[in-house]
Parts: sequence; C-alpha cells; structure tokens
Amino acid sequence: RAKLNSLERVASYHPSMEEETQRRLDLVRYLRRDFSERRLEVWYQPQVSLDNGEIIGAEALLRWPQADGSFISPAEFIPVAEYTGLIVEIGEWVLEQACEELRRFDELGLPELRIAVNVSVPQFRKRDFPEVVERVLQKQGIDPCRLELEITESIVMDDPGMVVNILNRLKEQGVRVAIDDFGVGFSSLSYLQQLPLDRLKIDRTFVNNAATDSGRVIIETIVNMGHRLGMSLLAEGIEEPHQAKYFAELGCAEAQGYFYAKPMNAEALTDLLKARAKNRQRQQVSGH
Ligand code: C2E
Ligand code: MG
Ligand code: MG
Ligand code: MG
Repeated sequence: RAKLNSLERVASYHPSMEEETQRRLDLVRYLRRDFSERRLEVWYQPQVSLDNGEIIGAEALLRWPQADGSFISPAEFIPVAEYTGLIVEIGEWVLEQACEELRRFDELGLPELRIAVNVSVPQFRKRDFPEVVERVLQKQGIDPCRLELEITESIVMDDPGMVVNILNRLKEQGVRVAIDDFGVGFSSLSYLQQLPLDRLKIDRTFVNNAATDSGRVIIETIVNMGHRLGMSLLAEGIEEPHQAKYFAELGCAEAQGYFYAKPMNAEALTDLLKARAKNRQRQQVSGH
C-alpha cells in the first residue's frame, strides 16, 4: 500500500509524456504565431560599474507577453525555440532591436553605452552568423564595439574548430564577446584560454554562495583566473548591497542584478537613463 501511494503521488505530479509532448507542440505553435505577429518584446537589464554605480550598458532579454498580462519565462520557451530552430530568426530580430536601442542611446547623448545580446547554439552554428551580425550593425550604422555577444559554455564546447573560427571572424569586426553563466558548464579551462573572450560573467549561483567559505574560494578563483587571462569581470544576480561590496573589493569591474535594476522595457530604460542624466546635470550645476 505504501508503495502504491508513492506511485500515485509520482503519477499525479508529473504530466504524462503525451501531455508533455502536446504542451510543447502548443508552445511551438503559439511562439511561431506570436513571433510572426511581432508580439515578443526585448527588455533590458542595466549593467553597472562597481566603481561608481554608473550604468555602462544593458543586457537584452526576450519577453513573451500573454493575453492575461503574464509572461512565459525565457527559461521555458528558449529551449523550445532552439529545438525547432526558430531561435535563429528570433535571435536575428533581437539583434536588430538591440541595434535600434543603441541608436536611441545616441539620441540620448549616451553613445558610450553598450548592449549585450544572448546567442544560442543553433545561431552560432550557422556558417553566416558573423555576416548576419555585420549586416545588422551596418544597417543601423552601429560601431561594432558597442555590441557584446553572450555565449555559454555549451556553445564553447560544441565544436572547438568552428567556435574559434566564428569568434575570430566576430573579433575582426570589433564585436565583443562575453562568456555567460560562467562556472556552471563543463568547459575545459585550457581550451577557454585559447578563445578571444573579452568578458566573463560570473553565474548567479556563485553570487548566492558568497556567504560561505567554499563559495568564496570558488568566486575568488574565477575572478583571479579571469583577470590573469585578461578578461573583464561582471557579477550576475547581485541582489544585496553586501554582495556588491564584496565583488567590488575583489576587483570585479561590473555587475548586474535586481539590486541595481530588474529587466525593463525599452521605454522604461529610456526614462531611467534620462532621469540619471538630469541628476548628473543638477549635481554639476550645484558644484558637487
Ligand atoms: P541569462 O542570459 O543568464 O540572463 C540573466 C537572467 O537572470 C535573466 O533571466 C535575468 O532576468 C535574471 N536576473 C538578473 N538579475 C537577477 C537577480 O538579481 N536575481 C534573480 N533571481 N535573477 C536575476 P531571464 O530574463 O528570465 O532569462 C533567462 C535566460 O533566458 C537568460 O539567462 C538567457 O540564457 C535566456 N535568454 C533570454 N533572452 C534571450 C535571447 O534573446 N536569446 C537567447 N538565446 N537566450 C535568451
Ligand atoms: Mg546572458
Ligand atoms: Mg547569465
Ligand atoms: Mg542563463
């Protein structure tokens, strides 16, 4: 009887394989429809300098709004978009949106801000990916060094020869490359050091572990390694002031997280940047 109970529990907590397959098929259909009707949105989460708290740029993050005002999480729909290959088209659209946003930064008098865009394995695997990036940048007349592509360890470990080739072609253009979620994958360090990477983003899970001795050992090892390999470091998922202080003291240059700002739509980001610019002017006028 005890055994039956636990089996019943498992059965009631997990959708059957058929249900799960159906749900994914529905998700693909709705995602295709909503993307073709341009109902996806690109939101932006500010990235800040740990020296002075100034915004130095933003990460572009996809949002899929639903009729009831809720959002389907990227963690749920990105894998589906990757599996079906739809991410290739969606990803190019995100790049276009990001370049338009960079244009708006110019209009706000903030040409120094950059935007980071996440790239998926199927996008990266396309032989013409560097040309796609080049074309999108040229269309908006954007200086390539203002665009940063975030790749993960799963891309890096995909096919070393291909990865080095694509990264080199991107670097020739002047595009920057960051390794995202660093430390949660299984990439080999000796191989990583051969890649032309500009920035290392320390995964949020490590930031959460900064309170323990062993957590700090790992973080400090990553920061050290990043610095010695000539990369700039950004801590992801900073939620508390003491975390910001800890990473600043380690010499980590940049951060991102709810402590500074949550992801927001383009309009809200513009408002935030305008408010900051106004504050700065006021401080200058009053001599501070
Ligand atoms: P990611 O690239 O590592 O992005 C950071 C994620 O951490 C975002 O989740 C962001 O909202 C969240 N985050 C930032 N600060 C905090 C914090 O202080 N606390 C907590 N709890 N979370 C924080 P989001 O927007 O749900 O995106 C999840 C993942 O989906 C991204 O992780 C990225 O892998 C993927 N993704 C999002 N947009 C795109 C896209 O345009 N293309 C591709 N290929 N992947 C995307
Ligand atoms: Mg990212
Ligand atoms: Mg990340
Ligand atoms: Mg992630």
